[in-house]
Amino acid sequence: MSRAGIVTVVGKPNAGKSTLLNRIVGEKLAIVSEKPQSTRDRIVGIRTTDDAQMVVLDTPGLLNPRYELHRAMRTTALRALADADVIVYLADATERTPVPLGEAADLDSPPRAPVVTVLNKVDAIRPAERLELREALPDARFVSALTGEGVDELLAELEAALPEGPFLYPEDEISTAPVRFFVAELVRETALEQLDEELPYSVACEVEEFREGQTPLYIRTVLYVERESQKRILIGAGGQRIREIGRIARRKIEQFVGTNVYLDLWVKVLPNWRKSDRALRRFGYRLHDDPSA
Ligand code: GDP
Ligand code: MG
Repeated sequence: MSRAGIVTVVGKPNAGKSTLLNRIVGEKLAIVSEKPQSTRDRIVGIRTTDDAQMVVLDTPGLLNPRYELHRAMRTTALRALADADVIVYLADATERTPVPLGEAADLDSPPRAPVVTVLNKVDAIRPAERLELREALPDARFVSALTGEGVDELLAELEAALPEGPFLYPEDEISTAPVRFFVAELVRETALEQLDEELPYSVACEVEEFREGQTPLYIRTVLYVERESQKRILIGAGGQRIREIGRIARRKIEQFVGTNVYLDLWVKVLPNWRKSDRALRRFGYRLHDDPSA
C-alpha cells in the first residue's frame, strides 16, 4: 500500500526552508495542472517516490516576528498547518533553542498533526553545542540542508508518518503547464529579497501573459504595491532596483522552466489591495469566509 499526504513546513526566515525544500523536492518539483485541492495555493512541491507521495505546503510569514501578518495570509498559513498530516518545524541550530511551535506561531490550540522539530545547519555548530541541543530537544532531528546530512533519515520518517492511501496527485496529472503561480512566487520572492524586507506584505505579483511555444519564453509580470512611494522604492534610483529584480528573477525562472525567458516586469499601484477581498483572492490568498476554502 502506498502512502500519501501533506507535509507542512514552518520556520522563521533564514532557517533554511528553501534550501531544505530544494533537497526534498529538487528536480522533482512538480506543478499541479488543475486545482483539485483547496491546498493548491500553498503547494511548494510534490515529492513522489515509488511508494510515497509528499505534498509539501509552505507557511510564509507565519513565524516572522517583524511583521504583523495580514489576516488572509495568516489564515492561509494556519490552513496549511491544519491540512497537514505531518508538520516540519524547522529551526536554525546556530540560533538559540527554538520555542515550541504553538508558542512561536501563537496558536490557539496545538496542531492536529504530529510536529517534527528539525534543527538545520548542524554542519555549522560545534560538537559541544550539538550535545547541548540534543539534551534540550531530545526528539529533534538534526539535519544540514546544505550538506544533506540527516535529510534521507528525515524523509524516511516523514514518509512513514503519512497515511496509507493512493497518491493525491496521479503522476500524469502533474504537468509543467500552469507555471504561472510559481513564476509569480519567484518574482515576488526576488523582489522581497532585494528589498531587504522593506515592504514585504505590500507586494503581490501577477503573471499577466505567458507566451509558450517560442524561445525565449515571453512572460509579462506585474508587481503590485499599495502606494506610489512603494512603487518608487521598488523601482529604485534610475530603475536600478527593478532591473536587478528582473535579472535575478529571470535566472530563477529559467532554471525552473528549463528554457530561456524574456521577463517583462512592471510595477503598478493597486491602492490598498490588501484590504480588498477581490484583490486578495486574485493573488491567491484565502479569506476567512471563503466558501471555496
Ligand atoms: P529560508 O529563509 O528559511 O528559506 O532560508 P534559506 O533556505 O534561504 O537559507 C538561509 C541561509 O542559510 C542561506 O544563506 C543558506 O545558504 C543557509 N543555509 C541553509 N541551510 C543551511 C545548512 O544546513 N547549513 C548552513 N551552514 N547554512 C545553511
Ligand atoms: Mg526562503
